Amino acid sequence: MRMTVLTSGSKGNSTVIASAETRVLVDAGLSCRELMKRMAMVKEDPSALDAILITHEHQDHVAGLSVLARRLRIPVYFSEPTHRAWVRQMTPRTTMTYAQWLEHVQKEKEARAALDAVETANPEMCEQSSSVQMEAASAEGEEEDAPEAAVKRDPASLPAVEYFQPGTSFCIGDLTIAPFTTPHDAADPCGFVFESATESIRMALATDLGYMPPNVRSALQRIDVLLLESNHDLEMLKDGPYPWAVKQRVLSRVGHLSNDATAEFLARDYDGNATYIVLGHLSETNNVPELALLSAEEAIRERGKLLGNRVLLAQQSEPLASICL
Ligand SMILES: [Zn+2]
Ligand SMILES: [Zn+2]
Repeated sequence: MRMTVLTSGSKGNSTVIASAETRVLVDAGLSCRELMKRMAMVKEDPSALDAILITHEHQDHVAGLSVLARRLRIPVYFSEPTHRAWVRQMTPRTTMTYAQWLEHVQKEKEARAALDAVETANPEMCEQSSSVQMEAASAEGEEEDAPEAAVKRDPASLPAVEYFQPGTSFCIGDLTIAPFTTPHDAADPCGFVFESATESIRMALATDLGYMPPNVRSALQRIDVLLLESNHDLEMLKDGPYPWAVKQRVLSRVGHLSNDATAEFLARDYDGNATYIVLGHLSETNNVPELALLSAEEAIRERGKLLGNRVLLAQQSEPLASICL
């Protein structure tokens, strides 16, 4: 199994998780072009991706989502409230009652089915037209590969949408995915635990959480590779340039984990099972990578007996070399 963090931090988050047969992207928080560039840098073939999974609708997790999903023609997995919040974000002038929303989802499904029918009937024509559009897209850095006008007009249209519910596991290929609810100021935020049926390896992502509630602590047991938030240094945040309201938001129970909170989890609740702990979602303004690293390493050292537990730092500016187990 493999984890490749393409980017992590307040300006964008995106990670590839791959098993023997399945490859998914968790979040798409940079432009499509930048994500493609980063995948090329670490030799992750974008065309081999089976799906995109979204933790929550904040911009640093979805910035390149629609363009990337349409370009790769792969399904996007959301919780329903997250999908709805994302659609509203993409179409801010549209107000929608819940009944209208259901109708919208139904119409989209029908449009996609119609599109699929056309493509199945004329595979050659579609391949041709999509490759032409792909070329045009790479020239512009944007793409519009849906031949149907209705789909084109809708900035929130996706090749396919699948829903999951935090707390309920689901499968994509040979990956079992357990989404767990995180405390964060979004519609229905979650983290993920990935397990490969054939390799009995478990990898988890837990960023964007204000504190470590019991459900997250128990989800993060027996993890081999753990991407864990270590967002800010408390003193730097308090003395830093953010406006008061933003400081309050970050510090709140629906904000982000501080280095201290992460260290507390590692020292008290973490089971010491991981081969790698990757610290992520570091604030560029209110943290220093060395501080986050030191704080986590000290916390783990206090556990004494632990082997493995190599601590790595995910970067905003460049991908982290793939972690393979
Ligand atoms: Zn967030
Ligand atoms: Zn975030």
